[in-house]
Amino acid sequence: MPGVCLWRMTLTLADIFKAQKTIAGTATDTPLVPSPFMSEFCGQEFLLKLENMQPIGAFKLRGAMNAIANLPEGTAGVACCSTGNHGRGVAYAARARGLKAVVCMSSLVPRAKVDGIRALGADVRITGTSQTDALAESRRLQAAEGLAVISPFDDPFVIAGQGTIGLEVLAARPDLDTILVPLSGGGLAGGIALAAKTIKPEIRVIGISMDRGAAMHESLAAGHPVEVTEVASLADSLGGGIGMDNEYSFALCRDHLDDTVLVTEEDIYAAMQALYYEDRIVAEGGSVVGIAALLSGKLDKPKGPTATIVTGRNLDMGLFTAIMTGEDVQLGDRKVRGRRHGS
Ligand SMILES: *Cc1c(COP(=O)(O)O)cnc(C)c1O
Repeated sequence: MPGVCLWRMTLTLADIFKAQKTIAGTATDTPLVPSPFMSEFCGQEFLLKLENMQPIGAFKLRGAMNAIANLPEGTAGVACCSTGNHGRGVAYAARARGLKAVVCMSSLVPRAKVDGIRALGADVRITGTSQTDALAESRRLQAAEGLAVISPFDDPFVIAGQGTIGLEVLAARPDLDTILVPLSGGGLAGGIALAAKTIKPEIRVIGISMDRGAAMHESLAAGHPVEVTEVASLADSLGGGIGMDNEYSFALCRDHLDDTVLVTEEDIYAAMQALYYEDRIVAEGGSVVGIAALLSGKLDKPKGPTATIVTGRNLDMGLFTAIMTGEDVQLGDRKVRGRRHGS
């Protein structure tokens, strides 16, 4: 049976089924809908798992709900580092359980995400310019204030929670050939791959990241976790390292992902336009990378029914409007050239 064996805990399909029971009714069983545009493009049925429909606008609610439900009685509160969506999930789940939450983020996290977290009553700390800086701050709070730290991707309960997406997708469509998963720290891809491959070993699970600062892709290539430089990206949710002391998500991705693919900022820009103009769906950059990989030709067209996870919708609407109208977008010191959809 596939699983990742460590001295601490062996994560298996049973943990993912358990998570499914724990979060039922709190993190939504989201729709799986066909994309006529992508199906036409691929010449195969292409489905979208709409995690952007979660109450917090992203799938991270699943892992956060499961992790917080499994905290021991008497926990003082929780802390986490986040590129935005994990913090929102933790803030929401902590509030539901009456716990204090502190969310540590770097200055790269977009304003819209920070505001969404504050609105849920969490204490927000902006420190440094990378996810690594934010992680250090959350660990300091763990020591100083006795808060339980919930990793965005390297926590067995978080991974099991994200893995419930794999259960839902395969229950709805046991005939799937391929699942395309946006990849950052690998909690999502690791959880989905563990679930899907245990149920259906021949299914393909492919992780997709942006081509600058793709921490898991580089770590898999090196055979161990490596540091990457974090830069501004349309896929801001996919930024940050996997942790040099990674315990779970690296091994899961190494053992269960069939491949990883990288896409450019221009590919992401075009895929956001395609999803909006063709399927009328608002999604953040990090959630369209599967579509970007196919439309750009960086990933070959699949040979059977395929699904991708539309992981979130939490983006700045000024940026969204600029992209939809074909304007140039400035990302740090780099400009993404605007283009009109279909031109
Ligand atoms: C966190 C996140 C991802 C990547 O999840 P990992 O578990 O870190 O790989 C993808 N898309 C969105 C919108 C996210 O918030």
